[in-house]
Amino acid sequence: MPNTLAFSFYSNEFDDFITADLPAKWEICSNCEGEGKHSQHLGAITESERADWSDEELSSYFAGHYNITCECCKGSGKVLVLDLDALDADERKDVQDQLKENEDYARAREAEIRMGY
Ligand SMILES: [Zn+2]
Repeated sequence: MPNTLAFSFYSNEFDDFITADLPAKWEICSNCEGEGKHSQHLGAITESERADWSDEELSSYFAGHYNITCECCKGSGKVLVLDLDALDADERKDVQDQLKENEDYARAREAEIRMGY
């Protein structure tokens, strides 16, 4: 059973917005690098912070006790992504255009939120 992902995009072939089940593949999650968990919420600990930590806290930190489950892959360490190589050329172009548009939109939204809209 091949993996698929439902994806909405503007199809030049149909001259309309369509949702299709596109071929997808598993990739190592870039957020946690396949670990399924990470400690990014803590940020990097600085020297002065480290001085405040007890030995016990530090060893817990390095043992990964403060790690949280990765929200991108839900702890599985891998994510299902669209397999663009499996699409035919026309479809791939439509999908790539849409991905770029989604990205632009997300970036514009982010900028708006930062400015307090
Ligand atoms: Zn992850």
